[in-house]
Amino acid sequence: MSFSQLGLSDELLKAIADQGYETPTPIQRQAIPEVLDGRDVLAGAQTGTGKTASFTLPLLQLLTDRPTTQKPRPVRVLILVSTRELAAQVYESVQLYGKHLPLVAEVVFGGVSIVPQIKRLHRGADIVVATPGRLLDLANQRQINLSRVEYFVLDEADRMLDMGFIADIRKIIAMLPKKRQNLLFSATFADEIKTLAEQILHNPAQIEVAQRNTTADNISQLIYPLKQEYKRECLSYLIGSNNWKQVLVFVRTKHGADRLCKQLMLDGIRCAALHGNKSQTARTTALESFKSGKISCLVATDIAARGLDIEQLPHVINFDLPAVPEDYVHRIGRTGRAGCDGAAISLVCPDEAKLLFAIEKLLKRQIPRVADTGYETVDLKASDNASAKKVDPRPRRHQNHKKDRLSGNHPNKRKTASSTPARKRSR
Ligand code: AMP
Repeated sequence: MSFSQLGLSDELLKAIADQGYETPTPIQRQAIPEVLDGRDVLAGAQTGTGKTASFTLPLLQLLTDRPTTQKPRPVRVLILVSTRELAAQVYESVQLYGKHLPLVAEVVFGGVSIVPQIKRLHRGADIVVATPGRLLDLANQRQINLSRVEYFVLDEADRMLDMGFIADIRKIIAMLPKKRQNLLFSATFADEIKTLAEQILHNPAQIEVAQRNTTADNISQLIYPLKQEYKRECLSYLIGSNNWKQVLVFVRTKHGADRLCKQLMLDGIRCAALHGNKSQTARTTALESFKSGKISCLVATDIAARGLDIEQLPHVINFDLPAVPEDYVHRIGRTGRAGCDGAAISLVCPDEAKLLFAIEKLLKRQIPRVADTGYETVDLKASDNASAKKVDPRPRRHQNHKKDRLSGNHPNKRKTASSTPARKRSR
């Protein structure tokens, strides 16, 4: 099937051709006709499947089919997304796909001054891409009028709920006209999402392109079982020895991201950290440097990296496993996008064995383990049982580290690159 068979206008087909897309992806094939037909849509699609175009293209078409003469232009499409980065990215897509159309789009998100956003909104916009918090601020200050919205998109609904946006989303929905077309996209479908979908959507077309909670087939996945203290060295070795040019590394905490980034820089790897405590300018610069190849490694937390679209990102590394198994699916969805091959490597220490088993339960399969990591072998299953038995219920500061002190391995002893044992000589 080609794009021209989907009922899109010449202007949109031209924009699609400019992007170099030849055939629609499965989500685009299924969603575009439904949206054009005026139906609500409930779509199970992870990022990387081409879902942004699957809602943007038909909405642009619907807007141009029934143009407005009102000045300033009323907001007719509202696209709610979870993060600033995703907002910027979706906005960019709207502009790319709509570049031959006389429509105006705006983007609003927190972390930057609200004043320029207000000024731009006053000029009028047909489409607004927004994060919930900033949109509510603007609405409460009466700087945006949502009473003319005809099409409402909730992108990555599962992540919005994980991030605690449910109350904001409900407040925003209450400001929209009752009669409107709704599109809800989510990679996973916990009960909360199903409930929200039932409340928002009317007789939706249900579309699912990848089985829920599965990972794309073109992503090869590997587990490196190894002790926590060797992770950093192993990561540097993997990047350096393979000469990887673009690696997205996930860590669990903001502090962890900064620390790892510093260590990798000491190892001579050009890298930057991306997390919620960074200013918007720092986040944008880091992302741009990564996309342009100025730096080869981006160390990010889940929230900051959500929805990032980096063309043909070849490698994703989980330096820490995510606490929520579904996040594993999202993380590795950063690679292997739009049909390109990708590799996802997880460095897993014995303490994370339980998290790994939860991920494998979700995926309904075991992820292959690397037998020889080049470091001291650890058996994740056995060590999980062993560590479960050894748990000391007392707070950490009261625990006895005598044994460690005698062996010179006191937990507070600072490990530097030179104090960590070198990789096994066999490599
Ligand atoms: P998304 O799932 O919307 O984040 O899109 C993932 C990537 O796929 C983006 O880089 C898009 O530019 C790209 N893409 C979207 N649709 C197509 C298509 N039909 N053919 C090739 N690439 C596409």
